[in-house]
This record gives sequence, structure tokens and C-alpha cells, in this order.
Amino acid sequence: MTAPLRTTDPVVVEVALAGRAYEIVIGRGLLAGLGQRVAALRPGARAAIVTDQVVAESHLAAAQAALAAAGIESNCVIVPAGETSKSYSMFERVCEELIAARIERGDLVVALGGGVIGDLAGFAASAVRRGMDFVQVPTTLLAQVDSSVGGKTGINSGHGKNLVGAFHQPILVIADTALLDTLPPRIMRAGYAEVAKYGLIADADFFAWLEANWREVFAGTPAREHAVAVSCRMKAQIVARDERETGDRALLNLGHTFGHALEAAAGFSDRLYHGEAISIGMVLAFAFSARSGLCAPADAERVARHLAAAGLPTRISDIPGDRPDADRLIELIGQDKKVRRGKLTFILARGIGKSFIAPDIDVAAIRSFLAENLS
Ligand code: NAD
Repeated sequence: MTAPLRTTDPVVVEVALAGRAYEIVIGRGLLAGLGQRVAALRPGARAAIVTDQVVAESHLAAAQAALAAAGIESNCVIVPAGETSKSYSMFERVCEELIAARIERGDLVVALGGGVIGDLAGFAASAVRRGMDFVQVPTTLLAQVDSSVGGKTGINSGHGKNLVGAFHQPILVIADTALLDTLPPRIMRAGYAEVAKYGLIADADFFAWLEANWREVFAGTPAREHAVAVSCRMKAQIVARDERETGDRALLNLGHTFGHALEAAAGFSDRLYHGEAISIGMVLAFAFSARSGLCAPADAERVARHLAAAGLPTRISDIPGDRPDADRLIELIGQDKKVRRGKLTFILARGIGKSFIAPDIDVAAIRSFLAENLS
């Protein structure tokens, strides 16, 4: 269901990693050129497309046709849709199917899907035959602006999310913004929280642009390509500076400490999608920053207003079902993040576009802040 090509040129963002640099190509209708781009990078390679059942229905035939048009033979591995596919058993199945299809070391894995498929297929590519090349073709907004870039791959363990995995960079990312036309609105909105995150981290002008243009991003006008490109540019710069998250890659976790605890409290279920949890988490991070005298209360209010206008949840009370209490959330935060002598590292803000890593935040202050928010 790819929409017709427009005449505008695709935007290319480079992820400048020494010896492993790659391009993120962003534009409407790019899937049709997938085969040509792959053939140019790896002449003669075969490909295995890993996707999920939902994405397969809308976009697999077009991806296969695009590869075939460039003379590339492809196999497909189709897994069930959803977070439960980031499991040991599905990882085993994908690896076994790649091996059975005789995908060799010089061949390629193509991850066609959202963040779940990118993480699972990327991890399989990092392991099969001691590491194979892979191409990301992200099909959700979250995957186009976040998970397909930067090389974090992996699956979940019984102990928590993303605990088993590898850093494995793709050789190419093709972000065809037309693929988002088939996304359910709620999944589109959840991905939008990660777009707004880039403005809140380090680009106040981008946040102001989003306040004026977010409807266009959802509608799929060229504003969508612009939003994806600005987001990818920031992520690419941060990843190139700090691939392994020993420094400022942690800024990308704005809203994630609160967000992960809320997701865990909601049982990682469809009560609260990841991006929705990040929306509430970012609002809490700004409110906590304002309460601590770090940022103007008006900035915190502006963040909440914009995310709510875009249809995202912004308060813990927006989560349907039972609400966790402050002690439970602190316990979950402690499982996700190391607490050292009663202190936690948080991403806080001195204003919109002025986020920073705060390494010494008192757990007691977070607990009383959460208790206030829950009362
Ligand atoms: P997802 O991959 O589960 O996709 C959400 C749903 O949308 C699925 O049901 C999928 O089948 C469907 N879908 C995907 N593309 C579609 C399309 N074009 N049309 C219609 N339906 C479509 O979820 P997600 O939100 O993309 O990603 C979440 C995952 O990403 C989480 O597992 C999270 O841990 C991971 N993540 C990874 C990183 C990273 O750096 N590796 C960063 C952020 C998030």
C-alpha cells in the first residue's frame, strides 16, 4: 500500500561511525528502490526478510518485488506481531530459519517492521554465522526515528526488557514514510512521543516547529519527512559521539526512567505502549525539573500541553486500570536503574531543548514527587 512517489529527493543522514558508517535514507515511496540500494552496497548478495504477520499483510509483497526487481533472491521469516516475539524462542526460530534458507555470511538480513522486528532480526543478524550484515526498513514512526538507528539489538529476558542483545549496526536504513500510512493512529501517536523527545532534549526550535506542524506530520505531508529527518540527524550525531552509551547517549533516555517503571507497572501490555509511557515520563521529568527549581514551570506546562494536544497520555491517571503507588514505582525504578547510596541518575531539563544528565538525584525526592502526582 505504498503511496505514489513524490518528486522531492530523499533526505540522507549519515551515521558517522569509523569503519561502519551507514546512511539513513528518508523519503516517501523509497521501498520500491530497496533492491537497487541493496545491490549497490552488496552486489550478488541474497536476502532474508524478517517481518511480522501484520506488516507482512501490507508491505511484504512490495519489499519482495523491490528486491526481485534488482535481481535479488529473497526468503522470508514471518513471526507473530508484538513484543512477545522479542523472546529466546523466537530468536532461535529466526536463527534456525536463516540457516535453513542457506543465508550465508556475505548475504543480508532485511528487518521489515517496527522496533520489535528491528531488535529481533538485528540480534539474529549479529549472531548467525558470527555476524551478518543487515538492513533496517522501519515501518513504525518509533522505529524510523529511534530504534532502527544506533545498533542496539536484542530480546527480553524473564528478568526484564532488552537484557540480552548486542550492539550491531545496520549497513543501511531505509525510512519510507509512506509505510506509516497504514499504522493504527494510536501506534503513530506513541511514536510521535519519541519525535517530540528530540526537541525536548536539544532543539527548542524543532519543538516549536512541532507545536505548529504536528498535524501535518500525522497527515503525511512533507512535514513528516522533515520530522523524521531532524530526529534521525540528532540520533545519528549522538550515536556517532557515544555508540556504547558511556556518555551523552544517555540523553536519549529522557522520560525513560519514569516511563519504564510505568510500563512495567502496566505489565508491558497494551494498557500503555512504550511511547505513551515515554510521554508521561517526559512530562514527569519536566515537572520534577520545575519543582527542583531547574526549569521554568511554564516550560513544563508547555510540554504537557503539546503532548496532550497530540493525543498522548500525560498523567499517571491517564493509564487505564489499577494505578501503582509511589513505593511500587520506586521499586520498579530500582529494578531498571542502579541506585547508589540512595541516589539515581536522571535526565532532567533546564528548559525546552536543554536536557542534561543529572547523576545525583535523591530517591527520596523522587518518591515524594511521585506521591504528590498520584494523590
Ligand atoms: P512494534 O514493532 O511491536 O510495532 C507495533 C505494532 O504495529 C505491531 O503490531 C506491528 O505489527 C504493527 N505495525 C508495524 N508497522 C506497521 C505498519 N506500517 N502498518 C500497520 N501496522 C504496523 O512496536 P514499535 O513501537 O515499533 O517498537 C517497540 C519496540 O522497539 C520495543 O520492543 C522497544 O524495546 C524497541 N525499541 C528499541 C530501541 C533500540 O534502540 N533498539 C529504541 C526504542 C525502542
